[in-house]
Amino acid sequence: MILVAQTWTFSFSATVLLAAVATLAYVLGRRRPDRKTRNGAESRHEIQRALSVAQELEGITYRLRKSMAFHVPSIVKFNSRLKRWEQSSDLSWHELCDRADELLKPAQRLSTEISHAYADLLQQMTHLSTFAELRTDPLTGVRNRRAFDESLVKMLAAHENDEVPLSVAMLDLDHFKNINDEQGHLTGDRVLQDLAQLLKPSLREGDLLARYGGEEFVVLMPRTSLHSAAKQAERMRMRVAEKLSTTISIGVAASLPSETATSLMSRADAALYKAKDEGRDCVCLHEGPTDRISTVRTNSDDEPAESKPTAPPLNLAPIEPYLHVESN
Ligand code: GH3
Ligand code: MG
Ligand code: MG
Repeated sequence: MILVAQTWTFSFSATVLLAAVATLAYVLGRRRPDRKTRNGAESRHEIQRALSVAQELEGITYRLRKSMAFHVPSIVKFNSRLKRWEQSSDLSWHELCDRADELLKPAQRLSTEISHAYADLLQQMTHLSTFAELRTDPLTGVRNRRAFDESLVKMLAAHENDEVPLSVAMLDLDHFKNINDEQGHLTGDRVLQDLAQLLKPSLREGDLLARYGGEEFVVLMPRTSLHSAAKQAERMRMRVAEKLSTTISIGVAASLPSETATSLMSRADAALYKAKDEGRDCVCLHEGPTDRISTVRTNSDDEPAESKPTAPPLNLAPIEPYLHVESN
């Protein structure tokens, strides 16, 4: 009975998993080529690959569904017999053992089929993971530039009729070259990895973190005002200053009506440039059509607000407890 129960639980969760993966494969299989960012041959090849994964997954799901449909009635029958015996207390021990034996063979067959399906599924998942790799930065594990560029264009289009803008923060490690020069490139790599891990917990649902290139990262913040984005950026900057042996400078911009990806990024870049100019370890905001760039000053005991004209001081909520940074 325990064997039957375990088999049933596994086959049910395997079906749910298969359905989820098959849906993903289906979506990937139907993805249309993006002519702006890829050449047609590459896209066609990817779609053919995704289609064959989807077909394999469909086959696995179909075979499993068939095996289970065949198996379920015998489990139901065994179950109802047990209930009847339980109520009548007219239990024949030998009969119970016979019925359990009858169920054992098909259960073993099903279990073998599930383990084959599982092995096939793992193979297909390996194929699927290569799609994820196309969009992942291998050093830090966050999205790469290609994924970022695609998301930015899509998100900007989605914000076209939105009153709340799409904000972007461009982050750059300060004096990173010195770390490489003084402690070696491996340490430099490690700092990049630590920074990515440190930033991840600061993201809200829907935010996207990507490595933009070298020692630059970007955070896309959908439906976020410039003021809120500034707060987010300032939290990130403070967290890095507190937890890493280095600092970052950040430039922030929020999308304007009819903004293009290029103009939004170049405004964030101008703000980052200003942050470097202001002495680094700070956040600057590009304020839009006026081209005014202001510097964020946090109103706290540790960092008194400066007297020179800046963006209004931010009232930051206390930083939530620091989440573990993986040390691999
Ligand atoms: P600034 O404060 O003005 O940004 O100075 P910086 O030294 O950070 O900037 P700079 O552009 O002079 O140097 C960036 C360095 O980042 C140079 C390059 O070798 C290093 N770098 C880029 N990609 C990687 C990487 O993947 N790993 C390591 N270790 N270093 C990298
Ligand atoms: Mg740089
Ligand atoms: Mg730098």
